Amino acid sequence: MARIVKKFGGTSVGDMDRIRNVARRVAQAANEGDEIVVVVSAMAGVTNQLVGYCRDAAPLHDAREYDAVVASGEQVTAGLLAICLQEIGVPARSFLGWQLPMRTNDVHGAARIEEIGTDALDACLAGGRVAVVAGFQGIADDNRITTLGRGGSDTTAVALAAALKAERCDIYTDVDGVYTTDPRIVPRARKLDKITYEEMLEMASLGAKVLQTRSVALAMKYGVRTQVLSSFEDKPGTLVVGEDEIVEQEVVSGIAYSRGEAKITVVGLEDRPGQVSHLFAPLADENINVDMIVQSASEDGHSTDVTFTVPEDDLLRAVKILEANKEELRFRDIVYNGDVVKVSVVGVGMRSHAGVARTMFDTLADKGINIQVISTSEIKVSVIIDAEYTELAVRALHTAYGLDAPVGA
Ligand code: ASP
Ligand code: MG
Repeated sequence: MARIVKKFGGTSVGDMDRIRNVARRVAQAANEGDEIVVVVSAMAGVTNQLVGYCRDAAPLHDAREYDAVVASGEQVTAGLLAICLQEIGVPARSFLGWQLPMRTNDVHGAARIEEIGTDALDACLAGGRVAVVAGFQGIADDNRITTLGRGGSDTTAVALAAALKAERCDIYTDVDGVYTTDPRIVPRARKLDKITYEEMLEMASLGAKVLQTRSVALAMKYGVRTQVLSSFEDKPGTLVVGEDEIVEQEVVSGIAYSRGEAKITVVGLEDRPGQVSHLFAPLADENINVDMIVQSASEDGHSTDVTFTVPEDDLLRAVKILEANKEELRFRDIVYNGDVVKVSVVGVGMRSHAGVARTMFDTLADKGINIQVISTSEIKVSVIIDAEYTELAVRALHTAYGLDAPVGA
């Protein structure tokens, strides 16, 4: 008998037929004798609608009331799934965040989990019942409802799996696993049987939106074996696991891309100690996340250029902040471009193999694609290129690293 947490996302519980489908899948597992805790999202589109209502009510609304409103979507699906399970003879009951309790801090709209009470769930499972938990929500010390940030049900599921010492956390979604790259761009992308936490973290934060990034970090921290699989097909998905579980490691596991990037170059910044620190301080103060940074060598010994990337949504705000500090920072000009994409090659095998970056640069050069910014870590190489070359670059790299599925496969 195994204890398993199963999470079903918004499309998987998108209407009554789909909720019944989920109930059947859960029943199957429960009938095999496993202890099942189900975590559900709101029906697809519902959270967006609830967010819309809040904005309509007041553009600048009370974040605590926002949480009271948007947490309601998960309450509905948790209750409905429990009813559907009962209908097919599976004893089940729903739990809201406060009923566990799922204790969080009080950062409304983006709360972090602090502690999870498991007594109620343990009792439910011991009584032979399936527990259906509303994802995405918790309760703060002041007794008010909180939410974990968009896509937060993944985090609920992984955190519960860790707290309950579950054997596995299954994340059911509308894709059947994690691919070597986006199959919409590369039809010959392959589904991975296994991927390491670290790689998944890079893939998730680089724009492969299968799992919420925070949930992957949590799975890595607590060693939760996490499986991504389809709620519509009955076949194994991709297991996200520790490196020790992967016997034969490919050098490169995947190609990720992220369109939401923008590039800023500060031209003619005075070249003396403290300048870079002064440059980034006001951006950090305004919570603008700077990602890749390149400082060029000073040609004349007096001034230098600094190029960096920020989320595209923050581009204009970042430029405005820098312009406002122009006098003090003493630079000549700002040049920026939101029409760029970050393409990354990811793989833990890179640690022990040379030449991975070179293959990337050669491949892009062959296609006549200009690299604007480069950054590397132990397990990835990322470049910024013009957005119009996204597809070409991703396809060429996928082929260059031998990731294409065999023809006819
Ligand atoms: N319903 C929430 C959202 O859309 C949480 C989730 O689905 O994970 O963000
Ligand atoms: Mg999701």
